[in-house]
Amino acid sequence: MSREPLDEKLSRVTFVRAPEPHISLDEAVCRRCSLDRVCLTTCPAGNFKRDERSGQVSVSTESCMECGSCRIVCALGAVRWKLPKGGFGVCYLRG
Ligand code: SF4
Ligand code: SF4
Repeated sequence: MSREPLDEKLSRVTFVRAPEPHISLDEAVCRRCSLDRVCLTTCPAGNFKRDERSGQVSVSTESCMECGSCRIVCALGAVRWKLPKGGFGVCYLRG
């Protein structure tokens, strides 16, 4: 049995945008990050970015898959993360 490539699976994920972002960062903690900004390489959706000029890390939540990985890897507690209200967020068409 062949396994479907991850890119193809991800291409079928749909999102309903919540009015308020469900993830926010403690910018002061991120500025002093001692974790080599592991969030940048952990998020499977590539939602974490680092501004080249200021060095500040930010997160966008529009394509968040609600995996919770960013919250787990940030041992400094800079990621405030909560599930979007019902009716919003990620929708997996095939589980
Ligand atoms: S979210 Fe955590 S790991 Fe990412 S830059 Fe901020 S402090 Fe560092
Ligand atoms: S919950 Fe997962 S997909 Fe969403 S921003 Fe965090 S690591 Fe990325």
